[in-house]
Amino acid sequence: MNAEIIAVGSELLLGQITNSNARFLSSHLAELGINVYYHTVVGDNAGRLEDVIQIAEERADLIIFTGGLGPTKDDLTKETIARHLGTTLEMNEEALESIVAFFERAGRVMTENNKKQALVLKGSEVLANHHGMAPGMLYKTEERAYILLPGPPKEMEPMFQFEAKPKLARLLNQADVILSHVLRFYGIGEAELEDRLQDLLDRQTNPTIAPLASDGEVMLRLTAKTNSEEQAWELINEAKTEILDRVGQYLYGYDNDSLASKTIELLKEQSKTISAAESLTAGLFQSELAAVAGASAVLTGGVIAYNEEMKIEQLGIAPELLKEYGVVSEETAIAMAEAVRRKFGTDIAVGLTGAAGPDAHGDQPAGTVWIGIATEDGTTAYRLQLSGMRNTNRLRAVKLALSYIIR
Ligand code: ATP
Ligand code: MG
Repeated sequence: MNAEIIAVGSELLLGQITNSNARFLSSHLAELGINVYYHTVVGDNAGRLEDVIQIAEERADLIIFTGGLGPTKDDLTKETIARHLGTTLEMNEEALESIVAFFERAGRVMTENNKKQALVLKGSEVLANHHGMAPGMLYKTEERAYILLPGPPKEMEPMFQFEAKPKLARLLNQADVILSHVLRFYGIGEAELEDRLQDLLDRQTNPTIAPLASDGEVMLRLTAKTNSEEQAWELINEAKTEILDRVGQYLYGYDNDSLASKTIELLKEQSKTISAAESLTAGLFQSELAAVAGASAVLTGGVIAYNEEMKIEQLGIAPELLKEYGVVSEETAIAMAEAVRRKFGTDIAVGLTGAAGPDAHGDQPAGTVWIGIATEDGTTAYRLQLSGMRNTNRLRAVKLALSYIIR
């Protein structure tokens, strides 16, 4: 099956918003094994919309529209499609009820034009909108299928995933169950991971294994398609065992885990507390931890000591040490970690110092980072040589520090 995605909206053409809907849909269609050959963007204009529908019909068996299902005058997607297909719009009672309920809940009066949102293509299967008002539609003809989805991503994404995707899978005569499981790695590059798994990546079809990389992390998405959830897990676990045999030492978590959430989880299990002395990262390390619900059970706080004076004043670091070894040094990272560990009385403490870039710090080139980790067993320092932009380096230093703690 070959698909075309048509995003409707003048704001897309004006450069006011990014066509993230096309990106989302493409990645999900790929999971279903549907080839997406074209992304089209068209403004809120009936004539030009009809033109692109005609072109799409010549080259796609599945046409997915997003946008223009709302109540306003410029929302004309379904009207145009109805006219083009020679069908009409009819009121969908369920959708209307849910719109009425939506207004009642919000304590607002429903205006007449809002009823328009409950109009659907006659003969279509309705896709419920659990996060907004306008329902979506799946309309089938002998030759092809049309899917209409709302524009706002928070409505479109769940509607596609939970309403349209299962219907599409059935349409393709495919398995009823599509299950994805993400393995998260740290400390190994995307190229090396792929290299070690190349034969698996090449021959594996169910589950498929898709590598993804972002912010220094590498992920593998395993997607199994089969008839039962149990069987899908069996297939996934089989592939997982083989993957982890080869690169298991870099695995830190699954699905929605993050390095910070795993750190919090681990420290909670061990009933340990953590603090940080941050120069390079100026609070970013603590901020990453604090983003995890329940962080207060383990994170006590820390010190942002950005300049030398504050390292001396707030952390009690000896001026002679800074002078002899420099701010960006193993000795300073260790001294920072040990000082904040004493000051906050925590089990673990981290000291972060470095030259974020783009400029060097004295004789330390841009990207040089020292991370000190102090525990009751002593203090270890790690040196990194990062090569990214300033803020990428700062974030990577935080993530690496977290990965050393959970390792
Ligand atoms: P509404 O009921 O909100 O009017 P709609 O289905 O009519 O929804 P549009 O009016 O076309 O959709 O778009 C509403 C908003 O949804 C846009 O302002 C934009 O924020 C977002 N949106 C629309 N299309 C896209 C797209 N292709 N990618 C990302 N966001 C989009
Ligand atoms: Mg609209």
